[in-house]
Amino acid sequence: MSAMQESVSIRNLSLSFGAVKVLERMDLDVQQGEFLVLLGPSGCGKSTLLNCIAGLLDVSGGQIFISGKNVTWEEPKDRGIGMVFQSYALYPQMTVKKNLTFGLRVAGHKKDDIERRVARAAEMLQIEPLLDRKPANLSGGQRQRVAIGRALVRDVDVFLFDEPLSNLDAKLRSDLRVEIKRLHQRLENTMIYVTHDQIEAMTLADRIAIMRDGIIQQLDTPHAIYNHPVNLFVAGFIGSPS
Ligand code: ADP
Ligand code: MG
Repeated sequence: MSAMQESVSIRNLSLSFGAVKVLERMDLDVQQGEFLVLLGPSGCGKSTLLNCIAGLLDVSGGQIFISGKNVTWEEPKDRGIGMVFQSYALYPQMTVKKNLTFGLRVAGHKKDDIERRVARAAEMLQIEPLLDRKPANLSGGQRQRVAIGRALVRDVDVFLFDEPLSNLDAKLRSDLRVEIKRLHQRLENTMIYVTHDQIEAMTLADRIAIMRDGIIQQLDTPHAIYNHPVNLFVAGFIGSPS
């Protein structure tokens, strides 16, 4: 069953902010190499779930496994994940190249290895001409490419995206969507992608998990969800109009 090895497994995961339960006893398995989209309305807990996987939030209960290893209490940097946020989160005082190399230098990579990784990421994301610029001198789309590049150079097992295209205009959004898809086809790594945009979900996903109030309502292929929504909520959110 190695072809079906789970990349990310969530078991019985709960997360509360004070008395407010956001996630309760959630289970989720993401396959190796899968593009999984978490889709749901604002406030349903998508970012919270992603932040738990990334290790940016301490869980209230349950376990998270990445590549078979229990990472529930591991530091974010030791989880083999790279995260891309809506807000880019680039270091404003550093050039694009420094933004790409900073984490690698902290992790102790050798200079020629760093150069090789940066060249590969810059080529894949078509940001070679931007390497000496500062984030303030980039467009939103260019900033997001750099943010993706920062995960790319680290050669992570799992990419986590939190609404990466929401700050971009329609044209850039569709361009970058195509490019994220192409990147996934080339890297064949696992991607978990949060959005509230049905079109993004339908075009990017191998499978979509539709969330409402911290609960996954349906997890299936875009085709199956569109044609066979399990309930009215799913039908209203993505299903066929009939
Ligand atoms: P989504 O990403 O789907 O829009 P979130 O995961 O950001 O939703 O939020 C889920 C719920 O948790 C919301 O009701 C939100 O108000 C609440 N929440 C998120 N972060 C915090 C926090 N740091 N403290 C208290 N409540 C929070
Ligand atoms: Mg969110």
